[in-house]
Amino acid sequence: MKFLSGMHELIFPPRCLGCGELHHELCSTCSKELRLHDFRSQVGEVPVFSSIRYNSKAGHILLAAKEDGVRKADDILLVALAHSFRHAVNALGVRPAIVPIPHSRQALRRRGRNFVGDIANRLSAMEALAMRDIIRHNRRVNDQSLLDASSRFGNLSGAMSVIRQCGRPCEVFLVDDLITTGATLGEAVRTLEKGGFHVVAAVTALVALPLR
Ligand SMILES: [Zn+2]
Repeated sequence: MKFLSGMHELIFPPRCLGCGELHHELCSTCSKELRLHDFRSQVGEVPVFSSIRYNSKAGHILLAAKEDGVRKADDILLVALAHSFRHAVNALGVRPAIVPIPHSRQALRRRGRNFVGDIANRLSAMEALAMRDIIRHNRRVNDQSLLDASSRFGNLSGAMSVIRQCGRPCEVFLVDDLITTGATLGEAVRTLEKGGFHVVAAVTALVALPLR
């Protein structure tokens, strides 16, 4: 087995997940660029806590995790998400259940997995938190990443619903991989509040600053 894995590394040498240079996981330049920060932004009334500034290298890691299921890329995003979560807990003094942002039905079919649900699930296990996977898309939506900022809001307007109204307690943190315009988080907040929940904060691994 060791011989086979050696052969595999010879034919497919490991490359940095951020820049593609020959390196295990992350090279030192990418590690430096992708280090964790305490970012705080705002969507409406809801504070958003994030750890890594989105750039092309962070984009490669996100794609490797989301589209190719690379476990090491998942792990990098999980560490960033956990950092954002602890930042939110320290800043707000609450530790509520987490609710993952849902994927569109097309993305779920294409990927065969619920990427944000999976990392939220791992965060919930790590931090001994309740996770409530309760938001669903109720109609077809276009891929947000292909739309300009103004079209993103219309694309998602009224597109989500909750599968369960609030029992007690109703406070939650929303979880997503990336915040860009805030359109997705804003729609999820409206959806949850219609269902009787109170979204205290959102936590994301990555943030595209400044929010557009
Ligand atoms: Zn690199």
